[in-house]
Amino acid sequence: GLGASWAVDWMQRAQAVVSANRVDLIDLDRAIGDGDHGENMDRGFTAVSGKLATLAPQTPAEVLKTVATTLMSTVGGAAGPLYGTAFLRASKAADGELDGAGVAAALEAAVEGIQARGKAEPGEKTMVDAWLPAARAARAAASDGAAPAAVLRAAADAAASGAQATEPMVATKGRASYLGQRSAGHRDPGAQSSALLLAAAAEAAE
Ligand code: ADP
Ligand code: MG
Ligand code: MG
Repeated sequence: GLGASWAVDWMQRAQAVVSANRVDLIDLDRAIGDGDHGENMDRGFTAVSGKLATLAPQTPAEVLKTVATTLMSTVGGAAGPLYGTAFLRASKAADGELDGAGVAAALEAAVEGIQARGKAEPGEKTMVDAWLPAARAARAAASDGAAPAAVLRAAADAAASGAQATEPMVATKGRASYLGQRSAGHRDPGAQSSALLLAAAAEAAE
Protein backbone atom coordinates (compact mmCIF):
# COMPACT_ATOMS: atom_id res chain seq x y z
CA GLY A 1 0.00 0.00 0.00
CA LEU A 2 0.90 3.70 -0.22
CA GLY A 3 2.57 5.04 2.91
CA ALA A 4 3.86 8.32 4.29
CA SER A 5 6.78 8.45 1.83
CA TRP A 6 4.32 8.41 -1.09
CA ALA A 7 2.33 11.26 0.48
CA VAL A 8 5.49 13.33 1.04
CA ASP A 9 6.66 12.63 -2.52
CA TRP A 10 3.19 13.66 -3.77
CA MET A 11 3.50 17.00 -2.00
CA GLN A 12 7.03 17.63 -3.33
CA ARG A 13 5.72 16.96 -6.86
CA ALA A 14 2.64 19.10 -6.16
CA GLN A 15 4.81 22.03 -5.11
CA ALA A 16 6.91 21.66 -8.28
CA VAL A 17 3.97 21.36 -10.68
CA VAL A 18 2.04 24.23 -9.10
CA SER A 19 5.15 26.40 -9.27
CA ALA A 20 5.77 25.44 -12.91
CA ASN A 21 2.12 26.26 -13.75
CA ARG A 22 1.88 29.41 -11.64
CA VAL A 23 1.59 31.76 -14.62
CA ASP A 24 -0.86 29.47 -16.46
CA LEU A 25 -3.13 29.36 -13.38
CA ILE A 26 -2.86 33.14 -13.02
CA ASP A 27 -3.85 33.57 -16.69
CA LEU A 28 -6.83 31.22 -16.33
CA ASP A 29 -8.00 33.09 -13.23
CA ARG A 30 -7.39 36.47 -14.89
CA ALA A 31 -9.82 35.46 -17.67
CA ILE A 32 -12.76 34.59 -15.37
CA GLY A 33 -11.73 35.67 -11.86
CA ASP A 34 -9.26 38.00 -10.16
CA GLY A 35 -5.98 36.52 -11.37
CA ASP A 36 -4.61 35.29 -8.05
CA HIS A 37 -5.12 31.51 -8.18
CA GLY A 38 -1.57 30.69 -9.33
CA GLU A 39 -0.05 32.91 -6.68
CA ASN A 40 -2.39 31.55 -3.97
CA MET A 41 -1.55 27.93 -4.83
CA ASP A 42 2.19 28.53 -5.21
CA ARG A 43 2.30 30.22 -1.80
CA GLY A 44 0.31 27.36 -0.24
CA PHE A 45 2.32 24.47 -1.64
CA THR A 46 5.63 26.20 -0.96
CA ALA A 47 4.48 26.45 2.68
CA VAL A 48 3.40 22.77 2.64
CA SER A 49 6.79 21.71 1.34
CA GLY A 50 8.59 23.78 3.98
CA LYS A 51 6.39 22.44 6.77
CA LEU A 52 6.81 18.79 5.75
CA ALA A 53 10.60 19.22 5.68
CA THR A 54 10.49 19.86 9.45
CA LEU A 55 8.45 16.73 10.24
CA ALA A 56 8.88 12.95 10.07
CA PRO A 57 5.29 11.83 9.36
CA GLN A 58 4.54 8.13 9.82
CA THR A 59 1.27 7.80 7.86
CA PRO A 60 -0.46 9.35 4.83
CA ALA A 61 -3.09 10.71 7.25
CA GLU A 62 -0.45 12.72 9.14
CA VAL A 63 0.85 14.21 5.89
CA LEU A 64 -2.65 15.03 4.61
CA LYS A 65 -3.60 16.70 7.89
CA THR A 66 -0.49 18.90 7.77
CA VAL A 67 -1.33 19.79 4.16
CA ALA A 68 -4.89 20.71 5.19
CA THR A 69 -3.94 23.03 8.04
CA THR A 70 -1.11 24.63 6.05
CA LEU A 71 -3.30 25.29 2.98
CA MET A 72 -6.08 26.70 5.17
CA SER A 73 -3.70 29.23 6.71
CA THR A 74 -1.79 30.21 3.55
CA VAL A 75 -3.85 29.90 0.33
CA GLY A 76 -6.72 32.28 1.12
CA GLY A 77 -9.53 33.16 -1.31
CA ALA A 78 -12.16 30.60 -2.18
CA ALA A 79 -9.67 27.82 -2.92
CA GLY A 80 -7.90 27.83 0.48
CA PRO A 81 -10.83 26.65 2.61
CA LEU A 82 -11.98 24.28 -0.16
CA TYR A 83 -8.61 22.57 -0.57
CA GLY A 84 -8.12 22.66 3.20
CA THR A 85 -11.41 20.85 3.75
CA ALA A 86 -10.61 18.36 0.97
CA PHE A 87 -7.27 17.36 2.51
CA LEU A 88 -8.71 17.33 6.04
CA ARG A 89 -11.51 14.94 5.01
CA ALA A 90 -9.04 12.80 3.08
CA SER A 91 -6.79 12.60 6.15
CA LYS A 92 -9.72 11.45 8.29
CA ALA A 93 -10.63 8.78 5.71
CA ALA A 94 -7.03 7.52 5.35
CA ASP A 95 -6.41 4.64 7.73
CA GLY A 96 -2.79 3.42 7.67
CA GLU A 97 -1.28 2.54 4.30
CA LEU A 98 -3.62 3.01 1.35
CA ASP A 99 -4.64 0.15 -0.95
CA GLY A 100 -6.77 0.80 -4.04
CA ALA A 101 -10.00 1.00 -2.06
CA GLY A 102 -8.29 3.26 0.47
CA VAL A 103 -7.27 5.67 -2.27
CA ALA A 104 -10.85 5.72 -3.61
CA ALA A 105 -12.26 6.33 -0.12
CA ALA A 106 -9.85 9.23 0.47
CA LEU A 107 -10.78 10.86 -2.86
CA GLU A 108 -14.49 10.41 -2.16
CA ALA A 109 -14.03 12.01 1.27
CA ALA A 110 -12.16 14.91 -0.35
CA VAL A 111 -14.93 15.68 -2.84
CA GLU A 112 -17.59 15.35 -0.14
CA GLY A 113 -15.66 17.97 1.83
CA ILE A 114 -15.40 20.30 -1.17
CA GLN A 115 -19.15 20.01 -1.78
CA ALA A 116 -20.04 20.41 1.91
CA ARG A 117 -17.97 23.58 2.03
CA GLY A 118 -18.76 25.19 -1.34
CA LYS A 119 -22.19 23.77 -2.20
CA ALA A 120 -21.26 23.36 -5.87
CA GLU A 121 -22.84 20.64 -7.98
CA PRO A 122 -21.18 19.18 -11.08
CA GLY A 123 -21.53 21.43 -14.14
CA GLU A 124 -21.13 24.70 -12.23
CA LYS A 125 -17.55 25.20 -13.54
CA THR A 126 -15.60 24.65 -10.32
CA MET A 127 -12.99 22.26 -8.94
CA VAL A 128 -15.86 19.84 -8.27
CA ASP A 129 -15.86 19.15 -12.04
CA ALA A 130 -12.35 17.70 -11.68
CA TRP A 131 -12.68 15.98 -8.28
CA LEU A 132 -16.02 14.27 -8.75
CA PRO A 133 -15.09 12.35 -11.93
CA ALA A 134 -11.72 11.59 -10.33
CA ALA A 135 -13.35 10.03 -7.27
CA ARG A 136 -15.79 8.07 -9.43
CA ALA A 137 -13.03 6.75 -11.68
CA ALA A 138 -10.99 5.80 -8.63
CA ARG A 139 -13.90 3.88 -7.14
CA ALA A 140 -14.52 2.04 -10.44
CA ALA A 141 -10.84 1.08 -10.77
CA ALA A 142 -10.64 -0.03 -7.13
CA SER A 143 -13.79 -2.16 -7.56
CA ASP A 144 -12.01 -3.87 -10.47
CA GLY A 145 -9.19 -4.72 -8.07
CA ALA A 146 -6.68 -2.19 -9.43
CA ALA A 147 -3.50 -1.44 -7.44
CA PRO A 148 -3.26 2.00 -5.81
CA ALA A 149 -1.02 3.44 -8.54
CA ALA A 150 -3.55 2.41 -11.21
CA VAL A 151 -6.42 3.81 -9.13
CA LEU A 152 -4.59 7.15 -8.90
CA ARG A 153 -3.80 7.08 -12.62
CA ALA A 154 -7.52 6.58 -13.40
CA ALA A 155 -8.37 9.45 -11.05
CA ALA A 156 -5.76 11.76 -12.58
CA ASP A 157 -6.91 11.03 -16.14
CA ALA A 158 -10.56 11.67 -15.17
CA ALA A 159 -9.59 14.92 -13.45
CA ALA A 160 -7.73 16.09 -16.57
CA SER A 161 -10.79 15.37 -18.73
CA GLY A 162 -13.01 16.99 -16.12
CA ALA A 163 -10.91 20.16 -16.08
CA GLN A 164 -11.00 20.33 -19.88
CA ALA A 165 -14.78 19.85 -19.80
CA THR A 166 -15.17 23.06 -17.74
CA GLU A 167 -14.15 25.15 -20.78
CA PRO A 168 -17.63 25.51 -22.36
CA MET A 169 -19.43 25.68 -19.00
CA VAL A 170 -21.11 28.81 -17.66
CA ALA A 171 -20.03 29.41 -14.05
CA THR A 172 -22.77 29.55 -11.45
CA LYS A 173 -20.56 29.37 -8.31
CA GLY A 174 -17.57 31.40 -7.21
CA ARG A 175 -16.15 34.62 -8.61
CA ALA A 176 -16.44 33.44 -12.24
CA SER A 177 -20.25 33.37 -11.85
CA TYR A 178 -20.19 37.21 -11.83
CA LEU A 179 -19.36 36.99 -15.56
CA GLY A 180 -22.42 34.91 -16.41
CA GLN A 181 -22.35 33.73 -20.05
CA ARG A 182 -18.97 35.43 -20.56
CA SER A 183 -17.36 32.78 -18.32
CA ALA A 184 -17.87 30.23 -21.12
CA GLY A 185 -14.82 29.51 -23.31
CA HIS A 186 -12.28 29.46 -20.47
CA ARG A 187 -11.06 26.59 -18.32
CA ASP A 188 -11.79 26.87 -14.60
CA PRO A 189 -8.52 27.57 -12.74
CA GLY A 190 -9.44 25.51 -9.66
CA ALA A 191 -10.38 22.51 -11.81
CA GLN A 192 -7.04 22.86 -13.59
CA SER A 193 -5.02 23.05 -10.35
CA SER A 194 -6.96 20.02 -9.05
CA ALA A 195 -6.00 18.03 -12.16
CA LEU A 196 -2.34 19.02 -11.66
CA LEU A 197 -2.44 17.87 -8.02
CA LEU A 198 -4.00 14.51 -8.89
CA ALA A 199 -1.47 13.97 -11.69
CA ALA A 200 1.27 14.55 -9.11
CA ALA A 201 -0.36 11.98 -6.80
CA ALA A 202 -0.35 9.38 -9.59
CA GLU A 203 3.27 10.10 -10.56
CA ALA A 204 4.38 9.71 -6.94
CA ALA A 205 2.80 6.23 -6.89
CA GLU A 206 4.33 5.00 -10.18
P1 ADP B 1 -10.81 33.55 -5.36
O1 ADP B 1 -11.89 33.27 -6.37
O2 ADP B 1 -11.34 33.89 -4.02
O3 ADP B 1 -9.81 34.54 -5.89
P2 ADP B 1 -8.99 31.40 -6.12
O4 ADP B 1 -8.74 32.20 -7.34
O5 ADP B 1 -7.78 30.95 -5.37
O6 ADP B 1 -9.99 32.15 -5.14
O7 ADP B 1 -9.81 30.07 -6.50
C1 ADP B 1 -10.83 30.09 -7.47
C2 ADP B 1 -11.32 28.67 -7.69
O8 ADP B 1 -12.04 28.21 -6.57
C3 ADP B 1 -12.28 28.54 -8.86
O9 ADP B 1 -11.60 28.39 -10.08
C4 ADP B 1 -13.10 27.31 -8.50
O10 ADP B 1 -12.51 26.12 -9.00
C5 ADP B 1 -13.00 27.27 -6.99
N1 ADP B 1 -14.30 27.59 -6.39
C6 ADP B 1 -14.80 28.81 -6.14
N2 ADP B 1 -16.01 28.71 -5.53
C7 ADP B 1 -16.26 27.37 -5.40
C8 ADP B 1 -17.32 26.59 -4.84
N3 ADP B 1 -18.39 27.17 -4.27
N4 ADP B 1 -17.22 25.24 -4.87
C9 ADP B 1 -16.13 24.65 -5.42
N5 ADP B 1 -15.10 25.33 -5.96
C10 ADP B 1 -15.16 26.67 -5.95
MG1 MG C 1 -8.88 34.16 -7.78
MG1 MG D 1 -8.90 36.16 -4.92
